[in-house]
Amino acid sequence: MTEKNLSQVLREQMKSEGKRFWAGDNISEYIAPSDKEHLINEATEAFEQVLDTLLIDRETDPNSKGTARRLAKMYFNEIMAGRYDPAPDATAFPNDSADRYEGMLVVRSELRSMCSHHHQPVTGVAYIGLIAAEKLIGLSKYTRIAQWCARRGTLQEELANDIAREIEKATGAKDLGVYIQATHGCCENRGIMAHSSLTQTTVLKGAFKNDSGTKKEFFDNIKLQQEFAPR
Ligand SMILES: [Zn+2]
Repeated sequence: MTEKNLSQVLREQMKSEGKRFWAGDNISEYIAPSDKEHLINEATEAFEQVLDTLLIDRETDPNSKGTARRLAKMYFNEIMAGRYDPAPDATAFPNDSADRYEGMLVVRSELRSMCSHHHQPVTGVAYIGLIAAEKLIGLSKYTRIAQWCARRGTLQEELANDIAREIEKATGAKDLGVYIQATHGCCENRGIMAHSSLTQTTVLKGAFKNDSGTKKEFFDNIKLQQEFAPR
């Protein structure tokens, strides 16, 4: 009997516990720190088989020699790291003193993601807006959370929801909005080959959804941000 590889053991464990492990799901509670290296080794062998099947000579082509391992490391440590790594630490500070901040906060976060369907890059920006609740987190944490959500296989519609949910968790804010503008490699490099196609998705909660003044302020802020840092 051949020994089971680690990825098979982990898949069986998640299945038996009813844990979903779709491309956009975080499975960090199933991955011990020492597991990553094992998984990278397994993925390297699997990518070697893919390259062989594609009839790419990875023995004599110097550019293809280390490609299988580069791909394996890139998936685990970079483009899909948000599946395997736990949530970034977002220590919250109280915002309940007499001079508490009551205005709207809008943070612009650069995003790099990947579509689940074709594993092509999704490149864009997320604008995260909220009315501060009793907690505040450091400004860079918004971007860290957004990037952690993005570094998975995603659909842009899901990504906006994921970021909104995680920001709500970290800040306790009930009034928030997430607006994402992104281009999709799968539209640019294949299929319709439309190089300038831009997709926008919006998630609005609380006052951002129900109060037209708050909603307008959010989109006015986005316009100001875009004038300052157009993309
Ligand atoms: Zn795609």
